Amino acid sequence: MNVLIINAGSSSLKYQLMNPETGDVEAKGLCERINIDGRLTHKVGDKKYVKDIPMPTHAEAITAVLDILVDPVEGVIKSTDEIDAVGHRVLHGGMKFSDSCIIDDTVIKAIEDCIPLGPLHNPANLMGIRACQKIMPNTPQVAVFDTAFHMTMPPKAYRYAIPTEYFENDDIRRYGFHGTSHKYIARRAAALMGTKDFKLINCHLGNGSSLSAVMNGKCVDTSMGLSPLAGVPMGTRCGDIDACVVQFICNKYGMSVDECLTMLNKKSGVLGMSGVSSDFRDLEEGKNNGNADCAMALDKFYYEVAKYVGAYAAAMNGVDVITFTAGVGENDCATRKAICEYLGFMGVKIDDEKNQIRGEEMKISTEDSSVQVWVIPTNEELMIAQDTAELVKAAK
Ligand code: ADP
Repeated sequence: MNVLIINAGSSSLKYQLMNPETGDVEAKGLCERINIDGRLTHKVGDKKYVKDIPMPTHAEAITAVLDILVDPVEGVIKSTDEIDAVGHRVLHGGMKFSDSCIIDDTVIKAIEDCIPLGPLHNPANLMGIRACQKIMPNTPQVAVFDTAFHMTMPPKAYRYAIPTEYFENDDIRRYGFHGTSHKYIARRAAALMGTKDFKLINCHLGNGSSLSAVMNGKCVDTSMGLSPLAGVPMGTRCGDIDACVVQFICNKYGMSVDECLTMLNKKSGVLGMSGVSSDFRDLEEGKNNGNADCAMALDKFYYEVAKYVGAYAAAMNGVDVITFTAGVGENDCATRKAICEYLGFMGVKIDDEKNQIRGEEMKISTEDSSVQVWVIPTNEELMIAQDTAELVKAAK
């Protein structure tokens, strides 16, 4: 079986052609500068092809992807009939979607209804879906939502302590994101433990970061909120912040709320605190060269992640397994070590040698650690491909 995975942004579109059974990626690539001019970067194994192709809309981008996938030299399949299904990453499923689903008119309408909650991403995701429907009308399409895994949270975790009318009338609540990654790690951890019955805290630490508390395979809390701005500080996002900061800055600097939020989303986090970079490699280099702002930004990050782990251990009345994933979680030994040092009070001990691992699955806790600590590389695309394949097979 071949699943085409599509992640459509407003001016870009990432794709992968994947076998959901083996996880083998046959080809992958990126369309950029949609609406502007259009460029396709296509990769098959070690080979890379870059082409300028006009892409006035997402439809031309999808056509370019399908053309190159069937190209006799650059492609990997003979005909688009070999694509059995398309899996679309969709940012916000609001309260309407607690799982992935096959796309029909009702689903499209529901994704449209969620636009106020995901104003930047949902319209772009819809453009990707509509373009595929137009060009491949007989191929089943599946929507996989970034929020769906978190829909098992209880009200005490997802409600904000603001008047109920905003929840009832406007669906304002915590949703959480990176759900596809958290779901993949929860499943992988369950496979490693040989059971689902354990308490897991997953730390997805990348450019965007979020943590999830997972009990018996179900999410019970997560750090991002109505939007991905909440939770721990990130590459460029501030994480949790007192709402009065927005009022203060807007009043003092004559900024609009939108401008202030752009600053909190794009210029804050470890980039804002260090004034150097959002990339942890640069921050560590800065810290090692004596830059106090880089050291401060890293300290703040370690501290806030550790605080969330402590909070989730309290929320679940214990924790059995802590997992690290995504760019920082998979590769950054110094960050994992610093976070785990805070958790020594609950018996977390890591093996410094094992902690040197980068980008590979490995248990990094010692045998006498009271909590198992693992590095597990995430694979959101595989999760999307597997959900898509499962739904399409079940519908046949
Ligand atoms: P995104 O949220 O964009 O998916 P990723 O999960 O790919 O981000 O994480 C990207 C981040 O991972 C980079 O900004 C960088 O800070 C971090 N990173 C990647 N490799 C390393 C490494 N070897 N050491 C430290 N940090 C790393």
